[in-house]
Amino acid sequence: MTDVIHLLPDHVANQIAAGEVVQRPASVIKELLENAIDAGGTNIKILVKEAGKTLIQITDNGKGMSTTDARLCFERHATSKINSAEDLFSLKTKGFRGEALASIAAIAHVELKTRQQDEEVGTCIKIEGSEVISQEVCVTPAGTTICVKNLFYNIPARRNFLKSDTVELRHIIDEFQRVALAHPNIQFSLLHNGSELFQLPDTNFRQRIVNIFGGKTNEKLVPVEENTAIVKIHGFVGKPEFAKKGRGEQFFFVNDRFIKSPYLNHAVTAAFEGLLKDKAYPSYFLYLDVDPKSIDINIHPTKTEIKFDDEHALYTILRSAIKHSLGQFNVAPVLDFDRDATLDTPYEFSQKGVTPPKVEVDPNFNPFQTERTGGGYSSSNFRREKPAGGSWESLYNGLGRSGSETGTRFEHMEFESDEVTGNLFGQSDETETGSTTFQLNKKYIISTLKSGILVIDQQRAHTRILYEELLKSITVTSAVSQQLLFPLELSFSNHEIKLLKEIKDSLEQTGFIFSEIKGDAVEISGIPTMISESEVAILLEQLLSDLENEVPGTGFSQVDTLSKSLAKGMAVKSGTALNSAEQQNIVNSLFACKETSLSPFNKPIFITLTVDELDKKFM
Ligand code: ADP
Ligand code: MG
Repeated sequence: MTDVIHLLPDHVANQIAAGEVVQRPASVIKELLENAIDAGGTNIKILVKEAGKTLIQITDNGKGMSTTDARLCFERHATSKINSAEDLFSLKTKGFRGEALASIAAIAHVELKTRQQDEEVGTCIKIEGSEVISQEVCVTPAGTTICVKNLFYNIPARRNFLKSDTVELRHIIDEFQRVALAHPNIQFSLLHNGSELFQLPDTNFRQRIVNIFGGKTNEKLVPVEENTAIVKIHGFVGKPEFAKKGRGEQFFFVNDRFIKSPYLNHAVTAAFEGLLKDKAYPSYFLYLDVDPKSIDINIHPTKTEIKFDDEHALYTILRSAIKHSLGQFNVAPVLDFDRDATLDTPYEFSQKGVTPPKVEVDPNFNPFQTERTGGGYSSSNFRREKPAGGSWESLYNGLGRSGSETGTRFEHMEFESDEVTGNLFGQSDETETGSTTFQLNKKYIISTLKSGILVIDQQRAHTRILYEELLKSITVTSAVSQQLLFPLELSFSNHEIKLLKEIKDSLEQTGFIFSEIKGDAVEISGIPTMISESEVAILLEQLLSDLENEVPGTGFSQVDTLSKSLAKGMAVKSGTALNSAEQQNIVNSLFACKETSLSPFNKPIFITLTVDELDKKFM
C-alpha cells in the first residue's frame, strides 16, 4: 500500500489559517491596529482605499522591528508576545498567536517598512502570497508602516464574497471605533479614498466617545464607576430617553480589549428595567478591569468573546453599579411621559385617564386597549377622524386630514371595538353603510370578494403601499411636506452625516426638508405628511443603519433600500386597531399598487379563501 499523508507546504497552511483570521478587510485593520498598539504606538494613521479591497495602510510610531524580526514576523507562530502557555494567563498584549501577519501575507501583496527608534536605517520587505519578493535597507521614520494591497488576490472566491464598499467600510469603521474607544490616549486617524473619516486627538474616555459619536453625545452620558476586589468598572451609559432602536452603541471593554458578552449585556438591560420604551436599546461604553488570571481570552479565534471566572458576581456588580448611577444622576424620573406630553403618543391617554365620562357611556370600553395601540404607532401616522353622522363617504374623506384632538381619539377606540364586533355578527349599522371589511386580531383585514374572502396582512399591505408611494415621490413627483413649527435638531456620527448628505436629495423628494447640516447636527424643518415628528429620529436612524448594512452603494438600489426602510418604519404595525375607513383605505390603496401580492421584502400580503374551499370544509 502507498502512503497518502504529507505535510502541507507553508504557503498553503498559511492560506488556510488566513481563512480563520482574515474574513474581510476589517479583520486586517483590526489585526494591524492591535499590532501597532502592542508596539507602543501613540499616533496611528490608517489609510484605506475602496473599503480596504485595494489598499489598507497602517503607520505607527511604535518601537519598530529589527531586520531579523522584520523577516521573522511573517512566519506562522512567530510572536514576541508570549513564550510559554502559562504566559496566556498574564496577557497584557492584544496579540499572542503570531498568526496575523503570516495569514495576511498569504493572501495579499504586503509591504513592510520598519525602523527601531535607535537605529539609523530601517528595513523594507515585500511579500506576495507568502513569498518574499525583496528585502532591503531603507530610509523610513521610526516605527512601522504596513501596506496591504489587493486582499484575496489569489483567492477569487473570497474576493467575490466581499460585500459592497459601503458594507465593508461599515465593518472597518466598527473595528476602528472599538479600538479607538479602548485607547483614548492614542491618536488615531482614518482616511477613506482620500477623505477624512476620523481624526481623533489624544484625550480622555468621555471626550473620545464624543469625538467619535458627535458633540451631542456629551449630554447623553451618565458616568458609571465601581471599585470592587473582582472588578473595577468605569465608563458611561446613555440616558434612557436617548436609547436607540438598533443595538448601535453598545461597548464592553475588558482590560482594554473590546468584547461581546450577551450575559453582561443582559445585566445592563436589567439595570434599565422600566426606563426604556419597547424595543429600545440603551447605549453603553463600559470599561472593566479584571485580573488577567481571571479571564480566558483563548476561547474564540477572533477574540471578541472571553470567559470570566466569576460571571455571576460580575453580573450583579455591573447591574447595581448602573442602577446606582441612573438613580444618582436623577435619570430615573426623566421618563418619556413628561418629555413626550405634547407629542402624539398614546401615553397622553394614561395621563388623562382620570376623566370618566366615556367609561360610563360605553361599559365595554377597555382602558388597556389604549396601551396596546402604543407599539410605536402614533395615530397621526394614519390620520383618524371621528365619523361624522355615520355617513360612510365622510369617513373615507376624513383620511389624510389631521385629527389631533385628544377627545376625539378617545372615542375612536370605542368606535373600533364596537365596529369589529358589529361586523363580525352582521348586526351593526356599519354593514348598511357598505363596509365590507373587518379586522381580525388587530393584524389581518378581512374583506369579502364575490366568490370568497380575502385575508390581508395589514402591516405588509401598508408597507407595500408606502413603498410604492415613496418610490414614486423620489423618482417622479416629489411629495408635499408638513412644515414644523419648531425645527427638529438631531445629531449623528460623522459617518452617518456623510451618508445622510448622499441621500439628502432623495429624502427631500419624500417630504423631508433639511434646513441645515452643520458638523454633526442636522436641522429638519419639514417632514413627510405621513409621519409624526416624534418618529423622525427613529426612522432616520433605522434608515441609515439599513443603508449601511444592506445595499450596494449607488443608483437605484439605494433609492430602493431607502424606500423600503422608510416604508417599513412608517407602516401601521400588527397589533394596531384600525377603524373601517382605515381598513378600506388600505384595501383600496393596495389594489391600486403595481404589485399587490408581495411586500417589498417579498413576503405574501394576502391570501384568498374561495367559496369552493369553504364548501369543502363543511363537507
Ligand atoms: P502577534 O501579534 O500575535 O504576536 P502577529 O503576526 O500579529 O502576531 O505579529 C508578529 C510579531 O511581529 C509580533 O509579535 C511583533 O513582535 C511583530 N510586529 C507586528 N507588527 C508590529 C508593529 N507594528 N511594530 C512592531 N512590531 C510588530
Ligand atoms: Mg498581532
